[in-house]
This record gives sequence, structure tokens and C-alpha cells, in this order.
Amino acid sequence: MKNPYRKTKIIFTIGPATQDEATLERLIHAGVDICRINMAHADHAWSREIIRRVRKVCDRVGRQIAIMMDVKGPEIRTGDVPETFELEQGETFDFTYGEGIGGIGEDGVRRVDVNYPELANDIKVGDTVLVDSGLIRLKVLSLEGQRVRTEVIIPGPIGNRRHINLPGVRVNLPALTQKDRGDVDVGIEEGIEFFALSFVREPADLDLFHNYLAEQNSPAKVIAKIEDQQAITNLEGIIKASDGLMVARGDLGIECPFEDLPLIQSRAINTCIQNTTPVIVATHMLESMIDSPIPTRAEVTDIANAIREQADCVMLSGETTVGKYPVECVETINRIADRMEMEDCTAPRGDLALKSPKSKMLRSAAYLATEIDDAGIVVFTRRGLLTQKLSSLRAGVPIYAFTDNQELFRQLLLMRGVEPFFMEFDDNDPERTIQNAFEALKNRGWADKGAKMVVVTNVIAGKKIVDTIQFREVE
Ligand code: PGA
Ligand code: MN
Repeated sequence: MKNPYRKTKIIFTIGPATQDEATLERLIHAGVDICRINMAHADHAWSREIIRRVRKVCDRVGRQIAIMMDVKGPEIRTGDVPETFELEQGETFDFTYGEGIGGIGEDGVRRVDVNYPELANDIKVGDTVLVDSGLIRLKVLSLEGQRVRTEVIIPGPIGNRRHINLPGVRVNLPALTQKDRGDVDVGIEEGIEFFALSFVREPADLDLFHNYLAEQNSPAKVIAKIEDQQAITNLEGIIKASDGLMVARGDLGIECPFEDLPLIQSRAINTCIQNTTPVIVATHMLESMIDSPIPTRAEVTDIANAIREQADCVMLSGETTVGKYPVECVETINRIADRMEMEDCTAPRGDLALKSPKSKMLRSAAYLATEIDDAGIVVFTRRGLLTQKLSSLRAGVPIYAFTDNQELFRQLLLMRGVEPFFMEFDDNDPERTIQNAFEALKNRGWADKGAKMVVVTNVIAGKKIVDTIQFREVE
């Protein structure tokens, strides 16, 4: 069972390599915080079964993790082909719509269908089409009806349902497709904590998603995946409209010049922290560990860099869906995080937009805790806002967040430096609530008698409720 305190949170993507109960148990013990289900590769029956299985294993292990469903949004894919075929450099090749299984067209030009009727309207002659994570590159020669004729610039194999990227092209697909809505309904029914929306392009995409969730009375949070140039242009608005951001480096590195990626990552992380929004760094973090039990030095440095930049979470994808060493990946991140977090600067960040007197008070609480050796912060939270702000201050002290809200309890697992606890509050007796929190900290081995805590809480003063910061010792 996870206990040694780690600030950086770990998301793993579930798949054939990790879906059995025994492996899940090992991952939860090793310290994963969130399980991601990628709906590009999941049907409804499997998703439901996995969600229930994760909950069951958590109950058995005695440690809860959160569940994130990653919905695909406006994603274009090729259709089926009778069998994988190799393109040739300089070949003329057609993308068509509604013509069925790929092969050779009437005029002898080879072709494949796409799942999107408007492709020929959205792109222009001279644009680039990338297939299969950018491995294959084609240039648009001409457009006719729903047919896009291209020239193969960099050849490669065309298999079934390959992902298409169109760098710099505004695709008119809806932010939430019909398939997405069906997927989301499953997540809502199963009570998951997070949805991640792929290819978010503008703040309105998130408003749409939030409205959909509100209509279904779902308390789930929405993570915006930034994956293309448009998302970078609208970065700040997207951060303000979302509950969290994912730097989806896989698609970003195809849609944008890859040399821009490190700068985009830094800017996204900093802008998120300044707006008190959690941020995830995703994709290829330990890619070589799909086949190898140890990471490359470059991967170690990449993870260390995300931690040094103070991201909330790092994410594993192929490493844990199909990789041979999923548990070793989590242990690798644990080792790097332990080492890097030792080097953390303890002073709270001064660049956050904390406007209300109450949120300014949080900064004082963070300063106070960092001034006292080995102190922690205890906070009581019903909506998570105070905790989110405390987390964003990135002070070098643990934040023990107590909530009486089950969903929020697991949603807090996204936030850097926060160790969440579920507990009923005694509304008539705030002191009782504090003592109960101290008991929980002692029982679970987080603090001993005499441990120093800065407590952010309300007190009842006559008829008024007053916000306070208290310096306390665990009794
Ligand atoms: P994906 O998103 O794994 O769903 O493609 C992450 C990324 O593009 O990096
Ligand atoms: Mn992606």
C-alpha cells in the first residue's frame, strides 16, 4: 500500500497488460493515482467491466484511485483495407468517403476511405496529410467532390483504421461526436471521476461538455487534451474553461513542429499553475520500457524535467496498456520523483492569480508551513477549491485534504502535493473535526503525536463563522 509521500501523481492507461486483478493490485500498491481508459480502443461492455473491477480491487487493497475516461473527440481515421499495403514514394493516392473498403479506384489510383465526409471541404491544395502518427506524409494535389487526391511524400504501410493528422487545418467535426456521447453516458452511469476530451480546440468545446454533464447531474471533472495548433493559440481560454489540462505530446508533436514541444510544455504547465488548474504531461514518458525493464537516460531526464517544471501528473500510455513492464514503470517514476522532489524549492510560488482575501490567506498558510520544520497543511474542503489553490502554490510541504464528498475525495488525487482523506465533518463542532482529522493521520501512519500542522479551517465565533489559520500539534 502506498504511503511514502510523493507529490507528483501517476496516471496509467489500462489495457491487456494491466487489466487482470493481480496486476491492478500491484499497480495500486506501487502507487498509481488514476486509471485512464482510452475509448479509441474500448467498447462499452469492456469499459463497464474494467471500471467495476478497478473499484473492487481498490476496496480489497484499501486504497482508492480515480478513473478517467478519455473520449476521442474530433478524430479522423482511415477505413478498412482488405490487407495492409505499402505506399510508394511519388505515388498518387486518394482519400475518399463512402466508397467502401480501400483498394484500387476506377482510374487505377489506389485509395482508402476516411470516416469524415467534409475532409475535402476542410483542406486545401498544398496541405499536408499525415497518417499513422505522422509516419506517412502526403501532399494534397487536387480536390474533387469528396475525393482528396494526394502525392506520397514519405511512404509507409496503410493498415486498417489509421489515425490522420492535418497540421494547421481547422476540422469542422463537432467537439463531442455521437460516439463520444455514448461513451460518456457509460462513464456517467458508472460514476467515474474524470473525462478527458481529445483535440479540444477552443473554450466552447469544454462548455459544451460541462453542459452535457450538468444535464445528466454528473459531478465529473473535464480534462482538456491539447493536441493541435489551434489549442495552443487558445491555450489560456481553454485552461480557464477546463478542470484540468493534458499536454498530449503524441499528437502535439505531429501537429506542431516537434522542436516547439518543450516550450509548449513549459508554457502550458506555468499557465495552468498560475490559473490554479491541474496539469498532466502525457505520452512517450517511458516508451522504451514497453520492451525493456529499465528506462533510457533520456526518459529519466524527461520525467525529471516534468517534475522540475511542477506538473501535477505524469501519464503512462502504451507502457501500461501493452508493455511488458507496467509495474516497473510506476516504480521508475517513484524513484525519479523521490529524488527530484528532494530538490524542490520550498517557497510558495508568487505568480498565482489569488484575488480574494481568503485565497491570499492560503498563501500565508503555505508560507507558515514552510517556515516550520517538517510541518504539513491540513485543509477541509467541500468543493476542492481551497485545496486546488493550496496545491498550485507548490509549497514544499504535504497538503492533507479532508473532504466529506466521495467524488471529490478521488478527484483530489489529480492535484500535486495533495493527500486526500474521506471523512464526515461535524458542522457544529469544528474542533471535533480537526481532532478526527489528526486521528486519521495518526492511524494511517502519516503523522505521529507531536507532528506540527498548519490547519486551514472555520471556527464558530458567537453567531459568525470565521476563516482561520491555526498552528497546531497533533495530540
Ligand atoms: P492519445 O492522446 O493517446 O489519446 O492519442 C495523447 C497524445 O496524443 O499524446
Ligand atoms: Mn492524442
